[in-house]
Amino acid sequence: MRYADAHADTFFRIALEELDPFQRDGGLHVNVPRTREVGQLLQVCSVFTPARYSGKPAEDFARCIIATLDAWSEKRPDVFLRVRTATDLAGLGENTLGLIPWLEGASPLRGDLALLDEFFALGVRGIGLVHNHANEVADGCGVAEPRRGLSEFGHELIARMEALGMAVDCAHLPQPAFDDVMAAVTRPPCISHVGARALVNIVRNADDAMLRAVAERGGFVGIDFYPGHVLSRAFEPGVREATVADVADHLLHALKVCGADHVGLGGDFDGFNDACQGLRHVGELPNLERELASRGLPEPAIDKIFSTNLLRYLGEILPPQ
Ligand SMILES: [Zn+2]
Repeated sequence: MRYADAHADTFFRIALEELDPFQRDGGLHVNVPRTREVGQLLQVCSVFTPARYSGKPAEDFARCIIATLDAWSEKRPDVFLRVRTATDLAGLGENTLGLIPWLEGASPLRGDLALLDEFFALGVRGIGLVHNHANEVADGCGVAEPRRGLSEFGHELIARMEALGMAVDCAHLPQPAFDDVMAAVTRPPCISHVGARALVNIVRNADDAMLRAVAERGGFVGIDFYPGHVLSRAFEPGVREATVADVADHLLHALKVCGADHVGLGGDFDGFNDACQGLRHVGELPNLERELASRGLPEPAIDKIFSTNLLRYLGEILPPQ
């Protein structure tokens, strides 16, 4: 198996909790012993900024997570490979783990394009424009209606990101800002980690029109493994536990809407505590592979979901060299 994943909070947790990514059972969903077992090639690393930070503290917080990622990459260059260009993607192999820092929420930029250039220089290659709360770009999906569309800064940001070679990530982005982004982009956008709203009707998930809009623009949709996104009322009393089969349902739905070339995985591992049964950590990914095979998905289609589609997408977006 070859695995490439579009979203995990692993380095956020390493930075905050001083966890060791080389510990197999040290509390991280994504850790080196297990990524090696499943042949993981690439992990997009969320640089998440909690809602309590804005302005300079948000910028400092993001820099701290990236510094942790830098420190581990420098300490173990035999294991961690920093991916900054499309050429770097071609060098990924099964004994190394490619890492790409990626802002989750644009608040560290503080509405300043000069800071975008600084974060790009630090290796950031994608930005989830919002998290659940509002920021300088738009309102997040946790904001009650009516929500703001894409701000003037948001338009400038997207143009500059596209010029630099960065992915515009619409995870957590509700309407009307989502539609504004689709109108603004000239390069393929993505939703790095999301569920299908047709199956679990929450604003955080993407409806079929949103999924189609991303696919039609040549983009990428990563289905996540968070129980609350893949099973309705997952944490309410009396509701059964979410399982790997629920994740497969969302993948198959996204495939139906987007076609074979635009769907992959953005598990959101290390972004939550209660994981799906059969998908407790990255080492259990073969269960998802088996589940998809049992639903009749042929191996080449599974391969696209597990790695090829994300690698193709990033190859188009990242600077060539
Ligand atoms: Zn998220």
